[in-house]
Amino acid sequence: MRLPIVTLPTPSLRVRSGEVDHATLRSPEIQQFIKDMIPTMYDDDGIGLAAPQVGKNIRICVVGKDATPTKQKDLVLVNPVWERTSRKTNIDAEGCLSVPNVFGKVKRYSYIHVTAWNEHGEELSFDANNFFARVIQHEVDHLDGILFIDKARDIYEVDPEERKNTERPEL
Ligand code: ZN
Repeated sequence: MRLPIVTLPTPSLRVRSGEVDHATLRSPEIQQFIKDMIPTMYDDDGIGLAAPQVGKNIRICVVGKDATPTKQKDLVLVNPVWERTSRKTNIDAEGCLSVPNVFGKVKRYSYIHVTAWNEHGEELSFDANNFFARVIQHEVDHLDGILFIDKARDIYEVDPEERKNTERPEL
């Protein structure tokens, strides 16, 4: 089922989302919610989606497989935490499904290490770099109530028709 996307100025986008425990993660409701996040992300041409963007203030996000190194499998991150492994940063354009038709350039760390659970509650620990790292930083920001427009420079709006024809990532 496709979930409705929450957009600004909905206040719940600005809330710190809560950690998910194993029992909650195992519940049929949350398992179905995670399953629904994936087609919701693709329906809107997103490459990442965080739970608060679809109405739940819990620390879960998904990353589209095209953003991952193997491009094989969509990634579910539960309670993700990252730290930079280098001071190196890069600046690139970002958009957000919750801030429609707005884009801007955001500085992100190029190399990070991520720990999280997957959808089964199994521990994940991996390095991410460049665009993959950017998507994870954007999604974890959502879990903390932070939006890319808080960090972006050169913010601009595009016509909704033009938006469909761009390669700019929305997360
Ligand atoms: Zn976003």
